[in-house]
Amino acid sequence: MTDLPTLREHLDAHGLAAKKSFGQHFLLDLNVTRKIVRLAGPFEGRCVVEVGPGPGGLTRALLESDAGKVVLVEKDPRFIPLLSELDDGSGRLKIVEGDALKVREAELVDGPAHLVSNLPYNVGTPLLIKWLTGPWRPYALTLMFQKEVAERVVAQVGDDAYGRLAVIAQATADARIVMHLPAAAFTPPPKVASAVVHLVPLANPPEPAMLKRLERVTAAAFGQRRKMLRSSLKTLGGGALCEAAGIEPDVRAETVDVAGFLRLAAALEPQAQ
Ligand code: SAM
Repeated sequence: MTDLPTLREHLDAHGLAAKKSFGQHFLLDLNVTRKIVRLAGPFEGRCVVEVGPGPGGLTRALLESDAGKVVLVEKDPRFIPLLSELDDGSGRLKIVEGDALKVREAELVDGPAHLVSNLPYNVGTPLLIKWLTGPWRPYALTLMFQKEVAERVVAQVGDDAYGRLAVIAQATADARIVMHLPAAAFTPPPKVASAVVHLVPLANPPEPAMLKRLERVTAAAFGQRRKMLRSSLKTLGGGALCEAAGIEPDVRAETVDVAGFLRLAAALEPQAQ
């Protein structure tokens, strides 16, 4: 890594500038990317997947780490030649040009892997849901989001930010914010601050069918979050569903904890099949 140009020189050498349509806001300070990688690790020789490597600041830090393999998924083809220059030919780095929303991780890596990414803001939430509920299960996820999204992931019942994302994330993983970054840390700076969330999937997460039901219940309940559950969950069973789950039908979604939503999802059977 020591022979490489700085990240900025590398971008200039390839004539690359950030494109808004790809959600590109780069971290060009290796001290910052190394810190994120320290928070994500240790990897102890395991594989790490990075989505959206762009100019490769996080990638360089991952290659300096104890990751056994680093797999990159980048949608913008302009960055592939630059990223190829980080490859020392040992086979440790794999570069995939593709859309992370569409790739099947199980086809890119053997078994689980760590996920470490500074995510494009426009697809951060669907990617997180995919990784927490999909058939492929990562060891851990260390992901940069807009601060507001990070707060929605870790929000507790009663918090303003508590909603669907908090319920799905916390029903499947332990999640905490491990780092805050101001907009000025990025090139070009986005409009909002960012935060890194570290998530460790639960050893025994709900079954896929249960997660589907959880998504239905939370979509209905938080879709009309000002209404009482008996009304917002009307099409799913309303008051009777609440009763079966041991939840007061007169309360609003924001007062029901994750365990309560899991009981509602369980009670949804068999109508939701
Ligand atoms: N990791 C780099 C950094 O920290 O400097 C770049 C982060 S930038 C916020 C997001 C990156 O994700 C860009 O490189 C962008 O091209 C890429 N990207 C955007 N949408 C993507 C998608 N659907 N799949 C894979 N990569 C994507």
